Amino acid sequence: MGENKEKVIVIPAYLTVRDLARLMEVSPIDVIKQLMNDGIIATINQQVDYETAAIVAAEMGFETKEEAPPVVETADEEGPIPLWERLYAGEDPDDLHLRPPVVTVLGHVDHGKTSLLDAIRRTDVAAGEVGGITQHIGAYQIEHRGRLITFLDTPGHEAFTAMRARGAHTTDIAVLVVAADDGVMPQTVEAINHARAARVPIIVALNKIDKPNAQPERTKKALSDINLTPDDWGGNTLCVPVSAKKRIGLEDLLEAILLIADSQEIKANPNRPAVGTVLEGRLDTSQGPVATVLVQNGTLHVGDSIVAGTVCGRVRRMIDEHGQTIDEALPSTPVLILGLSGVSTAGDLFEVMPDDRTCRTIVARRLEEQQARTTAAQPFSLDDLSQSIRQGKIKELNLIVKADVQGSIEPIVNSLETLGAEDLKVNVIHTAAGNITESDINLAVASQAIVVGFQVTMDPAARRMAEVEGIDVRIYDVIYKLIDEIELALKGLLEPTYVAKVIGRAQVRAIFDISRIGQIAGCYIIEGEVRRNAKVRVLRTGQEIHDGHVSSLKRFEKDVREVRTGFECGVGLEDFHDFQENDVIEFYVMEREKTAD
Ligand code: GDP
Repeated sequence: MGENKEKVIVIPAYLTVRDLARLMEVSPIDVIKQLMNDGIIATINQQVDYETAAIVAAEMGFETKEEAPPVVETADEEGPIPLWERLYAGEDPDDLHLRPPVVTVLGHVDHGKTSLLDAIRRTDVAAGEVGGITQHIGAYQIEHRGRLITFLDTPGHEAFTAMRARGAHTTDIAVLVVAADDGVMPQTVEAINHARAARVPIIVALNKIDKPNAQPERTKKALSDINLTPDDWGGNTLCVPVSAKKRIGLEDLLEAILLIADSQEIKANPNRPAVGTVLEGRLDTSQGPVATVLVQNGTLHVGDSIVAGTVCGRVRRMIDEHGQTIDEALPSTPVLILGLSGVSTAGDLFEVMPDDRTCRTIVARRLEEQQARTTAAQPFSLDDLSQSIRQGKIKELNLIVKADVQGSIEPIVNSLETLGAEDLKVNVIHTAAGNITESDINLAVASQAIVVGFQVTMDPAARRMAEVEGIDVRIYDVIYKLIDEIELALKGLLEPTYVAKVIGRAQVRAIFDISRIGQIAGCYIIEGEVRRNAKVRVLRTGQEIHDGHVSSLKRFEKDVREVRTGFECGVGLEDFHDFQENDVIEFYVMEREKTAD
């Protein structure tokens, strides 16, 4: 089948076996056979995902590419939402039916997010009828005038952005809680930026209006100042006065949610295998691994084989938020599921697959990929940006700006915004005074942004997270340096600076001449660790006499990748065969120098 090698086929995120066969111009029977060889039993109309299709196609001699998800045009013309597309990819508009909107409650600490979620939950008539014990499963549904609304009940934009950082798009509408006695606070602004970055419409719940010192009009003015003008101030943001404590205005808020939902075409196809997002995963001492999932498309049934990130299993039991056992969960339903093989991670996508075997194959592949990714993590940085710009791959740069005081932010943002050009936009997606926090890094992950700080430091948790997620954080203490560097990056002129970092030293104790290979130095590792893929300098009485690459690293005749302090090994170098006893071989790696401390 080598004749197909030249052919590249573009495969969508999901397609049926029939469509895959059509793309390759082969008989569907051959595709089914190939799938069987891979341990997957599929019928002609069954859907397979890109990963599976790509393996089959490769085995049948094709090169494959994943179809880019269509760009979702929005008012502010931002980029695509790949996961969202994936959830609803390939649906025939005729199969789509309205589903309940999924709402997240965001806002500044103590403005009443938790109180509001509790108050709304208690408005639910249906819950009272069931009479069961309410279970906190990370989300709940209420019925209002015969229509369902789903609330994610982990309040706070940290949770919201953490989910989004993992690629999960769970929310249709954000309710921004602003306490009328406290007004617009830093986390209010942060929440707005997070919701905007996710392109989720915002409804303002003007809370605590029962308080004597509440100043609703003043708060509305402050909201107008940050481009969230309430409807009664001539804007288009619904702003509902409420009191979570006195239970005032809750119905109006629910009405507002349904109104926005109606303008959004919130739909899904209930007649297909379920796809959704893990909201929470934990190990229950008696039940084993349990996960709350939000079904976002399709219907989930007891007995379905599912894969969620890197765990899989068969749904043994499903429990709703009233503690009732249910057999099926429709789109927008949050449900607790039992039967997974391990603890799943919040934000992971879950999908129903044809059978357990397919699930296991996918998990095995993902684990392998995960392994490969961790060994070759490719963070997005300013230097990468420069390279991508030179290659014409990038059209915009998202920045998060943190500064010591509010007063520094404006000049920085103004200067940064003048740097953009027509074909290369600079988007400052969030600014705030204060140190760089985990929340900033989360937003950066979710929006592929770079974090720039001016006279600030980074919280230890943020630093760890930035390292793990590969987020470029640049901290400056002079404004012009900050601007210069971003400008250079935008012009594609920033070259990464590399510095040599010594990782270990070995002392030569014996020399062996081996025919055809050359010299091997018998060494003792005196410091750190030495690696096969590192570079080396040979030092004789402190003077460098050679700089080059390792050709072999062995322990007892066996090739090894690394050797640590206190061990002996044999080292061969490329183009150097002139060792003397007591030479020191210094192993080093080239690391990118960062402005971030
Ligand atoms: P969160 O941090 O945003 O989740 O805020 P909480 O829901 O924990 O509320 C913070 C405080 O504000 C608590 O003491 C609540 O009792 C109080 N609170 C919340 N909503 C209202 C309200 O509508 N009116 C009044 N007077 N107090 C409220």
